[in-house]
Parts: sequence; C-alpha cells; structure tokens
Amino acid sequence: MATIFARIVNGEIPCYKVAEDEKFLAFLDINPLAKGHTLVIPKVETDYIFDMTDSDLSAMMIFAKKVAKAIKEVVPCTKIGVTVIGLEVPHAHIHLIPINSIYDMDFSRPKLQLDSSVFESLSQEIASMV
Ligand code: AMP
Repeated sequence: MATIFARIVNGEIPCYKVAEDEKFLAFLDINPLAKGHTLVIPKVETDYIFDMTDSDLSAMMIFAKKVAKAIKEVVPCTKIGVTVIGLEVPHAHIHLIPINSIYDMDFSRPKLQLDSSVFESLSQEIASMV
C-alpha cells in the first residue's frame, strides 16, 4: 500500500507544490504550524529517513536548503526551523518551518487553518524563489 506521499508523487493526490527535481519533491504541509510550513520528501518511498543512502540523504538536505532559502524570502521570520518526526506518515520527510521562537516548533500547538487560495499563493510565491 503506497503512502499518501507516494500517491502525491504519483499525481494521484494533489499538493501545493513548491519545488521538484528528479529525486525530491517539496510541498506545503496541509496542517501547517506556520504559513510556509513545507515538507521535503524523496520520491522513492522510504519509511525511515536514516535508512536512506548517504548520498540521497545529503542530496535531500541540499535540496531542502534551496527550498528553505526560498521560504525565507517569502515568509518573514528569524530562521527556517528544520525537524524530522515521521510518526504520522511512514515516508521520509523533513519539515521546514518559518520560526521566530522555539515555541513555533511545538507540534502540540493547534495547526493553522488556511484557505486553499492562501496555500495556492504561498506555494506559487515560494516556487518562484527556488
Ligand atoms: P509526521 O509524519 O509526524 O512528520 O507528520 C506528517 C505531516 O504530514 C503532518 O504535519 C501532516 O500535516 C502532513 N500531511 C499529511 N498528509 C498531507 C497531505 N496530503 N499534504 C500535505 N501534508 C500532509
């Protein structure tokens, strides 16, 4: 059974795409902690991020770096926080989250409810900066 992220990669499920290359995809988290909260995933399905090969893992972080710089151009913030959880979706991913304080990385906080038009414009703006 393919993960929800593999179905996004296959085009079965839509996403608010931010960036893509042959190996990786970045799209907005649908339940964001902040505007611009983005997920970076490998296109090849791997549950646990530390089961990825050294070269794929380092390439994914370099891809995430480009995406993080683009997010920071669009969303005013002090830094882009980086975290890996992976308890909900068994497909490796990196969370990139615009932050101003440590509390902005607290996943137990209520998530933002954003209109699809807001997701759409955020993803387009960030994509234009990558
Ligand atoms: P975790 O596996 O604990 O790192 O959490 C998975 C993350 O994926 C959560 O922040 C969800 O909001 C997010 N998520 C789940 N399904 C989707 C989806 N279809 N599109 C975008 N983000 C999603």
